[in-house]
Amino acid sequence: MSGRVLILGGTGEARDLAARAQAAGMDVISSLAGRVRDPRLPVGEVRIGGFGGVDGLRTWIGDNMIHAVVDATHPFATRITGNAVAATSATDVPFLRLRRPHWTPDPADDWSCVPDIAAAADEIAGRRARVLLTTGRQDVGAFAGIDSAWFLIRVVDPPEASLPPHHQILRSRGPYHLDDERNLLRDNRIDVLVTKNSGGGQTHAKLVAARELGVEVIMVERPPEPPGIRVVSNAAQAMSWLDQLTSGVQRGHC
Ligand code: NAP
Repeated sequence: MSGRVLILGGTGEARDLAARAQAAGMDVISSLAGRVRDPRLPVGEVRIGGFGGVDGLRTWIGDNMIHAVVDATHPFATRITGNAVAATSATDVPFLRLRRPHWTPDPADDWSCVPDIAAAADEIAGRRARVLLTTGRQDVGAFAGIDSAWFLIRVVDPPEASLPPHHQILRSRGPYHLDDERNLLRDNRIDVLVTKNSGGGQTHAKLVAARELGVEVIMVERPPEPPGIRVVSNAAQAMSWLDQLTSGVQRGHC
């Protein structure tokens, strides 16, 4: 492909794809939002920070000779995905969404599925529960008004939003292992786990531990993807798509 590939990142899948594309000799630049203070960086060139909405991204794509965009952002990062769809269709640049598969419940699980964070907070409000909250620091504010429950809030960086009156902050970053997750739930006498349905292996152990210990899970469902886009579920499939684009360009030059 005669041009650069933009990978919208912030996930393990994005780092995996950047490594594969670089190994295949592609000209790749990864983009991070800049939310995390000390992010895990992909190999190769990286830019950090927002583009300035759809217009900013469209201009950036033109200025940087981007010939394909792979959106490998988190399944709950809807704004950047919407912007990328709009910007690539306006510039006629091929677009692919790389989104890891969601988690599905085992028959032994006790999951309550809710459509969004506000609904998860509604589920907790008024309950005298001990809650492990793993929805990320941007969503903590939704629980700020709940004084009936105690929250163990697990985050990478400290939250800036208002916090519920009874809480403890636990700063850590995955991947997490089953033994540790089991101990965390047991030691803190957790009865409810609140999580987004992020999918992937790095944070899945908490669900297995919850199943084993009979801990209820409030599972925030994923927001819908924009209609009509091409979606793959892992970096290998995204590489096949990039390879096909490459061979398409070569055929065009014959
Ligand atoms: P979001 O709501 O979809 O995006 C908000 C704004 O952040 C976008 O409009 C864009 O700013 C900027 N942005 C987001 N991702 C970007 C990227 N990869 N490169 C450059 N700018 C980006 O996203 P979010 O939920 O705040 O998530 C931010 C980042 O954290 C994402 O890249 C995502 O992969 C990662 N992440 C999110 C979650 C989550 O639960 N949401 C979890 C883990 C990791 P402009 O409009 O100025 O371009």
